[in-house]
Amino acid sequence: MKSLLPILSLCLFLVSCATLSRKQDNHSTTATKTLVDKELKRPKLVVGIVVDQMRYDYLSRFYNRYSDGGFKRLMQDGFNCTNNHYNYVPTYTAPGHASIYTGTSPMNHGIIGNNWYDKVEDQMIYNASDANVLPVGTTSDDGKMSPYRMLTTTVTDELELHTQSRAKVIGVSIKDRGAILPAGHAADAAYWYRGSDEGTFITSTFYRDELPQWVENYNNSKPSSQYAKEWNTLYPVETYTASGTDLNDFERAPRGKETATFPYDLPALMEKNGGFSLLKGTPYGNSLVADFAIAALKNEQMGMDDIPDFLAVSFSSTDYVGHQYGVNSVELEDTYLRLDLEIERLLNELDQQVGSGNYTVFLTADHGAVNNPAYLQSQGVNAGYMDAKELESYLKKHLKNDLGNDTYIKNISNNQVFLDHEKLKAAKLETGYIQEYLAQLLIDYPQIDTVFTRASLTNSSFTSGVGALIQNGFHPKRSGDVVFVIEPGVIVYSRTGSTHGSPQSYDTHVPLLFYGAGIQQGHTTDRTHIIDIAPTISSLLKISFPNGATGNPISEVLKY
Ligand code: ZN
Ligand code: ZN
Ligand code: ZN
Repeated sequence: MKSLLPILSLCLFLVSCATLSRKQDNHSTTATKTLVDKELKRPKLVVGIVVDQMRYDYLSRFYNRYSDGGFKRLMQDGFNCTNNHYNYVPTYTAPGHASIYTGTSPMNHGIIGNNWYDKVEDQMIYNASDANVLPVGTTSDDGKMSPYRMLTTTVTDELELHTQSRAKVIGVSIKDRGAILPAGHAADAAYWYRGSDEGTFITSTFYRDELPQWVENYNNSKPSSQYAKEWNTLYPVETYTASGTDLNDFERAPRGKETATFPYDLPALMEKNGGFSLLKGTPYGNSLVADFAIAALKNEQMGMDDIPDFLAVSFSSTDYVGHQYGVNSVELEDTYLRLDLEIERLLNELDQQVGSGNYTVFLTADHGAVNNPAYLQSQGVNAGYMDAKELESYLKKHLKNDLGNDTYIKNISNNQVFLDHEKLKAAKLETGYIQEYLAQLLIDYPQIDTVFTRASLTNSSFTSGVGALIQNGFHPKRSGDVVFVIEPGVIVYSRTGSTHGSPQSYDTHVPLLFYGAGIQQGHTTDRTHIIDIAPTISSLLKISFPNGATGNPISEVLKY
């Protein structure tokens, strides 16, 4: 009986609608039409901004020095998800970008690292490399890239499918993977930076056979030459009180410079640091991306008609600066103060071209970063360094002693051990037995604090804790046999600079801001996940969710 109620009320509703429509004049047709139009109202343009290696606390640490028109505008006038996290390991660039745009984690989209050991090819492969495409705009192998290894669709793919490819989708970044994975498989184009002696933006035949004229013109204007100049602090260096001192033991100077201190004479340093590739590790890499994104906006007339377009912009220089100088450096603070101005410039251009209220922006990061462990130690915090080579010889030494053969391990990468299944079979050794054996060796190792075997990850379902993060990052076909987690604050990295990749909150907790058309003003401290972004934007655009999406729309963010 209870189940009939909704049907009954629907009938009543239909009857009353029919009565109304018979009674009312043309006026009601307009009203109905407006209602339908409102239901289908979409932003003319979505701009996805991913800041590479941006920790959540960079929004607050540098807040007082941000302008009113950049990060602050998004925070104050938009919606701020202050407790947004990655729900998997490893927290690296390629999985991060793939997860933001596919709305799922590596267990489904298959991008399990930047590089990983491919069992079929029996070698390390790069997430975006593609031997079947040709470079466009360069002859360098830097152009032989595509998203073919990403197994599920992106929100950008779904927009193209929904609009019969009438939507314009363009990805831009310094890093190839920062442009390619967000733009997706069905994009009009993805453009990334070619450093070295070129300093231009390139693509591959996966997208198009030649560069559009406006990109040719842009490249011919020698865009990088104007940024081959001195990098000094934007404000007097003594005002950078949100960071440590400029000269300290935790930074790595560029080749050819004694200390990691301002000013950096870039023209003098270029030759020893890969030519224009040097710019990637300075704030000017972000300026180049902003310039190019604005050029794309104008020349491709994005957001100018009623079919929504999508511009995916990833600022990668923040990651290079973080790796080289660390989380606590003046160099990093200066890079964020300058990025803030680039975001302001981009928003102003969007106001001009698309109009305030007609476009939607989201901003997030592909992972955070740990403070330099040597610096943490100087502050009394548990932290340290692990040597990957020592771990490998420890495992092999035991394999040799206990089983008489140290070649059962094919590869160790991304904190995963890949076994040689053919050799194990020939030796009549059960895989499950070796997995357990290695798990015990690994848990006995000083800086490793958690270990999972393939068997435990495929036979049970973890709902919380590090087990869930490992499982979400574990692709059944592509991942290894044993996965291990290193202690908090411990990294496999040089003693200078910072890195990321762990399940700890310094790597998982990243900003998430929404702003503009269809977005509520407000904030939440409820936990949200990176995989919720694509479903939220799909809901806003009223299109299908990406085909592997496991996240959910964040309903507080969206108007009605
Ligand atoms: Zn990254
Ligand atoms: Zn410094
Ligand atoms: Zn990085």
